Amino acid sequence: MKIAVLPGDGIGPEIIAEAVRVLRALDEHFELEFAEVGGAAYDRHGHPLPEATLKLAREADAVLFGAVGDWKYDQLARALRPEQAILGLRKSLGLFANLRPAILYPELAAASTLKPEVVAGLDILIVRELTGDIYFGTPRGRRAAPDGAFAGQPEAFDTMRYARGEIERIARVAFEAARRRNRKVTSVDKANVLETFQFWKDVVTEVHAGYADVRLEHMYVDNAAMQLVRLPTSFDVIVTGNMFGDILSDEAAMLTGSIGMLPSASLNERGQGLYEPSHGSAPDIAGKGVANPLATILSAAMMLRYSLDRAPQADRIEAAVRKVLAQGLRTADIAAGGTAVGTKQMGDAVVAALG
Ligand code: NAD
Repeated sequence: MKIAVLPGDGIGPEIIAEAVRVLRALDEHFELEFAEVGGAAYDRHGHPLPEATLKLAREADAVLFGAVGDWKYDQLARALRPEQAILGLRKSLGLFANLRPAILYPELAAASTLKPEVVAGLDILIVRELTGDIYFGTPRGRRAAPDGAFAGQPEAFDTMRYARGEIERIARVAFEAARRRNRKVTSVDKANVLETFQFWKDVVTEVHAGYADVRLEHMYVDNAAMQLVRLPTSFDVIVTGNMFGDILSDEAAMLTGSIGMLPSASLNERGQGLYEPSHGSAPDIAGKGVANPLATILSAAMMLRYSLDRAPQADRIEAAVRKVLAQGLRTADIAAGGTAVGTKQMGDAVVAALG
């Protein structure tokens, strides 16, 4: 089992160090190989995703990624900015499925901005299509408006499109994930207005024929955004396109109150995946030893479950995280003004709680 470990920038190296300690404490034989990515890679090699890093990521069974980015790179040409490394990895590994769980641990109910009775027990998984939709559709660009009330004026346009195969494969990921959970999938679309999403709805319904044991419901995206704050616990797995998923996954993340708790996985058709916390490189707290490492530790657990076929070890890590929260340990972002521990102490506690 080879894992490419890419710590990146900002708090990336600090939180990755704790996730690596947890992995090493599992008594499994993992080959961990480290490489630079993002601003750190740009500083040393002149590119945020050097060829050697990309090669390592391609050859590994999974990639454990910290975070990239810092304001000091804002003046660089877009192609050289740290964030391009993530896009390059997604593209070159063919990572089309983004899985983002949003779980509210009972001990952290107060961290949510919603009333505890609304969010108590929240455990949802957003499955977002990651390589298609209006974000990548062509043609796109600027031109003179060919028609309409503003014909002849400069305009900008993008293209929303999805091919059958793209929808089929993301629907299968969602149904398979639902089988390991509460067997319900909500497919989010805008079929009432967009041809692309009427097609999406039709194809998801066809794929569902092979998953009779999973319940499927369809919901318009505006309603889904509303239901996520009205009755979030009514969802199990949500599957949607790239743009709607981008927005809804951030909305779902905030239901839990702390971005420092949320892992994510991006998978390709071979089950190879990139695992990273949902948050960024947090340059404002980098180097202070106060970042919450739990999202990264939980990302390592997802890696064990989805790419390395080690579900029992993933369960162990998740149980250890629950245990340290129950013991009252909190990093500053989830301490609600109370006593906080640092990044390393939180990592120590999770390692100790592995049992
Ligand atoms: P951010 O997620 O880095 O930080 C937002 C806020 O959350 C900050 O106040 C930060 O201190 C806090 N925070 C984030 N993670 C935390 C953790 N583990 N523990 C405690 N607090 C935490 O988002 P931003 O400030 O908008 O972006 C900063 C940089 O990160 C930018 O350069 C951005 O481009 C980059 N970014 C990278 C990724 C990625 O690597 N996948 C994702 C998002 C943003």
